[in-house]
Amino acid sequence: MMPFSCDACGKALTSETRFTVQIEVYPAPDLAQLPPADPDCDHLDAMHELICEQEEADSDSDLNLLLPAYQKMQYALCPACQKRFLQDPLGLDSTTKLHFSEN
Ligand SMILES: [Zn+2]
Repeated sequence: MMPFSCDACGKALTSETRFTVQIEVYPAPDLAQLPPADPDCDHLDAMHELICEQEEADSDSDLNLLLPAYQKMQYALCPACQKRFLQDPLGLDSTTKLHFSEN
């Protein structure tokens, strides 16, 4: 089997010590699911609205995958980096520390 290595520190990983991080980035749901003006949808009719929304939801999910704003990333982490990631997923802490060490 191909040995895995931590994407953060490069340490070799076994299946027991490997953690997977999946990051999905996409436009906020309320914006992404905003129904486009559809002449076939009579929004005054609740029944039609429901049917149209279901159809739009289906096509929306396909559309989201094609949007350049949609990004899905996957990383393998060792236990130490997994802990660090969970404590500071956006890396905000490390940038603060950098500023402090420079002073
Ligand atoms: Zn690591």
